[in-house]
Amino acid sequence: MFHCNRLLHFTNKATIGTNDFQRITMKKASHISLSLSVFVTATFVTADAYATHSWANYHWGRTTNPLPLELGDNVAANWDANLTLAASDWNISDMLDTAVVAGKSNPRTCKPTSGRAEICNAKYGNTGWLGIAQIWISGDHITQGVVKLNDTYFNTTKYNTNAWRNLVTCQEIGHIFGLGHQDENFSNPPLGTCMDYTDPDPTPNQHPNQHDYDMLAEIYTHLDSVNSYILSDGTDGGGKGGGKGGKGKPLDIDWNNPSEWGRRVSEHIYERDLGNGNKVMTDVFWVEGRGNSHNR
Ligand SMILES: [Zn+2]
Ligand SMILES: [Zn+2]
Repeated sequence: MFHCNRLLHFTNKATIGTNDFQRITMKKASHISLSLSVFVTATFVTADAYATHSWANYHWGRTTNPLPLELGDNVAANWDANLTLAASDWNISDMLDTAVVAGKSNPRTCKPTSGRAEICNAKYGNTGWLGIAQIWISGDHITQGVVKLNDTYFNTTKYNTNAWRNLVTCQEIGHIFGLGHQDENFSNPPLGTCMDYTDPDPTPNQHPNQHDYDMLAEIYTHLDSVNSYILSDGTDGGGKGGGKGGKGKPLDIDWNNPSEWGRRVSEHIYERDLGNGNKVMTDVFWVEGRGNSHNR
Protein backbone atom coordinates (compact mmCIF):
# COMPACT_ATOMS: atom_id res chain seq x y z
CA MET A 1 0.00 0.00 0.00
CA PHE A 2 2.99 2.26 0.27
CA HIS A 3 4.21 1.42 -3.19
CA CYS A 4 5.25 4.60 -4.87
CA ASN A 5 3.55 5.16 -8.19
CA ARG A 6 5.54 7.44 -10.44
CA LEU A 7 2.41 8.90 -11.99
CA LEU A 8 1.16 9.95 -8.59
CA HIS A 9 4.40 11.40 -7.42
CA PHE A 10 3.08 14.64 -6.05
CA THR A 11 3.60 16.33 -2.78
CA ASN A 12 1.05 16.08 -0.05
CA LYS A 13 -0.83 19.34 0.14
CA ALA A 14 -1.58 18.89 3.80
CA THR A 15 1.99 18.63 5.00
CA ILE A 16 3.85 21.27 3.04
CA GLY A 17 4.65 24.90 3.69
CA THR A 18 2.64 27.42 1.76
CA ASN A 19 5.46 29.05 -0.14
CA ASP A 20 7.09 25.79 -1.03
CA PHE A 21 3.76 24.35 -2.00
CA GLN A 22 3.08 27.17 -4.43
CA ARG A 23 6.46 26.77 -6.01
CA ILE A 24 6.10 23.02 -6.32
CA THR A 25 2.56 23.26 -7.56
CA MET A 26 3.55 25.67 -10.31
CA LYS A 27 6.48 23.50 -11.23
CA LYS A 28 4.45 20.34 -11.29
CA ALA A 29 1.66 21.94 -13.24
CA SER A 30 3.85 22.10 -16.29
CA HIS A 31 4.63 18.42 -16.06
CA ILE A 32 1.21 16.89 -15.91
CA SER A 33 -1.31 16.47 -18.63
CA LEU A 34 -4.74 18.04 -18.33
CA SER A 35 -6.49 14.75 -17.92
CA LEU A 36 -4.07 13.58 -15.31
CA SER A 37 -4.32 16.83 -13.43
CA VAL A 38 -8.06 16.37 -13.13
CA PHE A 39 -7.51 12.92 -11.73
CA VAL A 40 -4.82 14.14 -9.38
CA THR A 41 -6.99 16.97 -8.13
CA ALA A 42 -9.71 14.50 -7.29
CA THR A 43 -7.39 12.14 -5.47
CA PHE A 44 -4.95 14.64 -4.08
CA VAL A 45 -5.32 14.12 -0.38
CA THR A 46 -5.93 10.40 -0.19
CA ALA A 47 -3.49 9.11 -2.78
CA ASP A 48 -0.71 11.59 -2.19
CA ALA A 49 -0.15 10.76 1.40
CA TYR A 50 1.56 7.60 0.20
CA ALA A 51 2.69 8.56 -3.28
CA THR A 52 5.31 11.04 -2.22
CA HIS A 53 8.14 9.94 -0.03
CA SER A 54 9.44 13.21 1.26
CA TRP A 55 9.58 13.40 5.06
CA ALA A 56 6.84 16.00 5.53
CA ASN A 57 8.35 19.21 4.14
CA TYR A 58 11.62 18.94 6.02
CA HIS A 59 14.69 20.14 4.17
CA TRP A 60 17.93 21.99 4.76
CA GLY A 61 17.74 25.72 4.14
CA ARG A 62 20.14 26.88 1.47
CA THR A 63 20.44 29.98 -0.66
CA THR A 64 22.14 28.12 -3.50
CA ASN A 65 22.30 24.55 -4.74
CA PRO A 66 23.71 22.02 -4.33
CA LEU A 67 23.50 21.57 -0.57
CA PRO A 68 27.05 21.20 0.79
CA LEU A 69 26.20 19.10 3.83
CA GLU A 70 28.95 17.68 5.99
CA LEU A 71 28.63 14.14 7.32
CA GLY A 72 30.74 13.74 10.45
CA ASP A 73 32.51 10.39 10.50
CA ASN A 74 32.18 8.96 14.01
CA VAL A 75 32.07 5.38 12.80
CA ALA A 76 34.60 2.64 13.42
CA ALA A 77 36.85 1.39 10.66
CA ASN A 78 34.53 -1.49 9.81
CA TRP A 79 31.81 1.03 8.87
CA ASP A 80 33.93 3.46 6.86
CA ALA A 81 33.36 1.79 3.50
CA ASN A 82 29.59 1.75 4.07
CA LEU A 83 29.57 5.43 5.00
CA THR A 84 31.73 6.42 2.05
CA LEU A 85 29.56 4.42 -0.32
CA ALA A 86 26.33 5.94 0.98
CA ALA A 87 27.73 9.47 0.76
CA SER A 88 28.88 8.97 -2.83
CA ASP A 89 25.58 7.31 -3.78
CA TRP A 90 23.61 10.30 -2.48
CA ASN A 91 25.96 12.72 -4.17
CA ILE A 92 24.73 11.48 -7.53
CA SER A 93 21.82 13.82 -6.83
CA ASP A 94 22.33 17.21 -8.46
CA MET A 95 20.92 18.76 -5.30
CA LEU A 96 23.55 17.34 -2.94
CA ASP A 97 27.24 17.87 -2.44
CA THR A 98 27.95 16.04 0.78
CA ALA A 99 31.39 15.43 2.23
CA VAL A 100 32.49 12.93 4.83
CA VAL A 101 34.51 14.92 7.36
CA ALA A 102 36.03 14.29 10.76
CA GLY A 103 33.37 13.56 13.32
CA LYS A 104 32.72 15.77 16.34
CA SER A 105 30.74 13.34 18.47
CA ASN A 106 31.32 10.58 20.92
CA PRO A 107 29.84 7.60 19.02
CA ARG A 108 28.16 6.36 22.17
CA THR A 109 26.10 9.49 22.76
CA CYS A 110 26.29 10.80 19.19
CA LYS A 111 25.29 14.31 20.15
CA PRO A 112 24.37 16.55 17.24
CA THR A 113 26.49 19.34 15.84
CA SER A 114 24.69 22.42 14.60
CA GLY A 115 24.44 22.68 10.84
CA ARG A 116 25.58 19.19 9.89
CA ALA A 117 25.02 15.47 10.44
CA GLU A 118 26.97 13.17 12.74
CA ILE A 119 27.11 9.50 11.74
CA CYS A 120 27.82 7.06 14.58
CA ASN A 121 28.01 3.39 15.40
CA ALA A 122 28.17 1.71 18.79
CA LYS A 123 26.67 -1.14 20.73
CA TYR A 124 23.57 0.77 21.74
CA GLY A 125 22.13 -2.34 23.34
CA ASN A 126 19.06 -4.48 22.87
CA THR A 127 16.99 -1.46 21.89
CA GLY A 128 14.92 -3.07 19.17
CA TRP A 129 16.35 -0.77 16.52
CA LEU A 130 18.97 -1.48 13.93
CA GLY A 131 19.41 2.16 13.05
CA ILE A 132 17.83 5.53 13.69
CA ALA A 133 17.96 8.92 12.05
CA GLN A 134 17.12 12.02 14.06
CA ILE A 135 16.64 15.46 12.58
CA TRP A 136 16.19 18.73 14.42
CA ILE A 137 13.60 20.94 12.77
CA SER A 138 13.07 24.68 12.96
CA GLY A 139 9.97 25.55 11.01
CA ASP A 140 10.46 23.34 7.95
CA HIS A 141 14.23 23.51 8.01
CA ILE A 142 16.53 20.77 9.18
CA THR A 143 19.26 22.33 11.33
CA GLN A 144 21.20 19.25 12.44
CA GLY A 145 20.93 15.50 12.36
CA VAL A 146 22.40 12.27 13.69
CA VAL A 147 22.49 8.70 12.41
CA LYS A 148 23.07 5.83 14.81
CA LEU A 149 23.93 2.31 13.68
CA ASN A 150 23.44 -0.30 16.38
CA ASP A 151 26.30 -2.80 16.54
CA THR A 152 24.43 -4.85 19.11
CA TYR A 153 22.48 -6.18 16.11
CA PHE A 154 25.01 -5.61 13.33
CA ASN A 155 27.39 -7.91 15.19
CA THR A 156 24.89 -10.78 14.93
CA THR A 157 24.96 -13.33 12.14
CA LYS A 158 21.76 -12.09 10.52
CA TYR A 159 22.78 -8.45 10.17
CA ASN A 160 26.55 -8.68 9.95
CA THR A 161 26.68 -8.39 6.17
CA ASN A 162 27.74 -5.64 3.88
CA ALA A 163 24.30 -5.57 2.28
CA TRP A 164 22.53 -4.90 5.59
CA ARG A 165 25.12 -2.30 6.54
CA ASN A 166 24.77 -0.57 3.19
CA LEU A 167 20.98 -0.60 3.28
CA VAL A 168 20.65 0.90 6.74
CA THR A 169 23.48 3.43 6.33
CA CYS A 170 22.04 4.61 3.02
CA GLN A 171 18.49 4.81 4.39
CA GLU A 172 19.34 6.70 7.56
CA ILE A 173 21.43 9.23 5.67
CA GLY A 174 18.56 9.57 3.20
CA HIS A 175 16.34 10.60 6.10
CA ILE A 176 18.88 13.28 7.02
CA PHE A 177 18.12 14.97 3.69
CA GLY A 178 14.37 14.87 4.36
CA LEU A 179 13.45 11.70 2.51
CA GLY A 180 10.96 9.16 3.79
CA HIS A 181 10.46 5.55 2.74
CA GLN A 182 9.21 4.47 -0.64
CA ASP A 183 7.75 1.27 0.77
CA GLU A 184 7.27 0.13 4.36
CA ASN A 185 6.07 -3.41 3.89
CA PHE A 186 8.95 -5.79 4.44
CA SER A 187 7.18 -8.48 2.42
CA ASN A 188 6.72 -6.50 -0.80
CA PRO A 189 9.10 -7.17 -3.68
CA PRO A 190 12.14 -4.92 -3.32
CA LEU A 191 11.99 -1.61 -5.17
CA GLY A 192 15.72 -1.39 -5.67
CA THR A 193 16.20 1.50 -3.27
CA CYS A 194 17.58 1.76 0.23
CA MET A 195 14.46 3.80 1.10
CA ASP A 196 12.50 0.53 0.97
CA TYR A 197 12.12 -1.84 3.89
CA THR A 198 13.06 -5.35 2.93
CA ASP A 199 13.61 -8.68 4.60
CA PRO A 200 15.13 -11.21 4.53
CA ASP A 201 17.40 -10.24 1.64
CA PRO A 202 18.62 -6.63 1.56
CA THR A 203 20.79 -7.18 -1.50
CA PRO A 204 18.60 -5.31 -4.04
CA ASN A 205 18.14 -2.31 -1.73
CA GLN A 206 21.63 -1.08 -0.95
CA HIS A 207 21.54 2.16 -2.96
CA PRO A 208 19.16 5.01 -3.80
CA ASN A 209 17.23 4.74 -7.04
CA GLN A 210 16.16 7.33 -9.60
CA HIS A 211 12.93 7.95 -7.75
CA ASP A 212 14.90 9.11 -4.72
CA TYR A 213 16.90 11.52 -6.85
CA ASP A 214 13.67 12.79 -8.42
CA MET A 215 12.21 13.34 -4.97
CA LEU A 216 15.31 15.24 -3.85
CA ALA A 217 15.00 17.41 -6.94
CA GLU A 218 11.44 18.27 -5.96
CA ILE A 219 12.33 18.97 -2.35
CA TYR A 220 15.37 21.11 -3.12
CA THR A 221 14.53 22.92 -6.35
CA HIS A 222 13.35 26.03 -4.48
CA LEU A 223 15.92 28.18 -2.70
CA ASP A 224 15.64 29.68 0.75
CA SER A 225 16.70 33.02 2.18
CA VAL A 226 18.81 31.32 4.85
CA ASN A 227 21.31 28.50 5.11
CA SER A 228 20.64 26.00 7.87
CA TYR A 229 23.86 24.09 7.22
CA ILE A 230 27.21 25.16 8.63
CA LEU A 231 30.56 24.08 7.18
CA SER A 232 33.37 23.26 9.55
CA ASP A 233 35.68 25.84 8.01
CA GLY A 234 33.09 28.49 8.71
CA THR A 235 33.39 30.01 5.25
CA ASP A 236 29.86 29.26 4.25
CA GLY A 237 26.48 28.75 5.75
CA GLY A 238 27.11 30.86 8.77
CA GLY A 239 24.22 29.39 10.66
CA LYS A 240 22.14 32.50 10.30
CA GLY A 241 18.41 32.23 10.23
CA GLY A 242 17.36 28.63 10.16
CA GLY A 243 20.52 27.43 11.82
CA LYS A 244 19.63 28.91 15.14
CA GLY A 245 16.33 27.23 15.78
CA GLY A 246 17.32 23.69 16.53
CA LYS A 247 20.62 24.27 18.25
CA GLY A 248 21.66 25.74 21.50
CA LYS A 249 19.06 23.80 23.41
CA PRO A 250 20.58 23.36 26.85
CA LEU A 251 18.41 20.29 27.43
CA ASP A 252 20.66 17.35 28.17
CA ILE A 253 18.49 14.69 26.64
CA ASP A 254 19.53 11.07 26.25
CA TRP A 255 18.46 10.65 22.65
CA ASN A 256 19.35 6.95 22.76
CA ASN A 257 16.39 6.43 25.05
CA PRO A 258 13.11 5.92 23.14
CA SER A 259 11.18 7.44 26.02
CA GLU A 260 12.83 10.76 25.12
CA TRP A 261 11.76 10.62 21.48
CA GLY A 262 8.35 12.09 22.20
CA ARG A 263 5.03 11.24 20.63
CA ARG A 264 4.88 8.19 18.41
CA VAL A 265 3.26 9.50 15.24
CA SER A 266 3.51 6.28 13.27
CA GLU A 267 4.97 2.81 13.56
CA HIS A 268 8.48 4.11 13.03
CA ILE A 269 8.35 7.91 13.53
CA TYR A 270 8.49 9.87 16.77
CA GLU A 271 8.14 13.60 17.32
CA ARG A 272 9.55 15.52 20.27
CA ASP A 273 8.28 19.08 20.48
CA LEU A 274 10.94 21.47 21.80
CA GLY A 275 8.70 24.52 21.63
CA ASN A 276 8.86 27.67 19.52
CA GLY A 277 8.49 25.75 16.27
CA ASN A 278 11.42 23.47 17.08
CA LYS A 279 11.18 19.72 17.24
CA VAL A 280 13.16 16.54 16.88
CA MET A 281 11.93 13.84 14.53
CA THR A 282 13.16 10.27 14.92
CA ASP A 283 12.85 7.62 12.22
CA VAL A 284 13.45 4.09 13.46
CA PHE A 285 14.58 1.05 11.50
CA TRP A 286 13.30 -1.74 13.75
CA VAL A 287 14.94 -5.13 13.83
CA GLU A 288 12.85 -8.08 12.76
CA GLY A 289 9.95 -8.71 15.08
CA ARG A 290 10.11 -5.33 16.77
CA GLY A 291 7.90 -2.32 16.21
CA ASN A 292 5.28 -4.54 14.53
CA SER A 293 6.99 -3.88 11.24
CA HIS A 294 6.80 -7.47 10.12
CA ASN A 295 3.28 -8.24 11.17
CA ARG A 296 1.39 -6.88 8.18
ZN1 LIG B 1 12.80 25.98 1.97
ZN1 LIG C 1 13.83 4.64 7.74
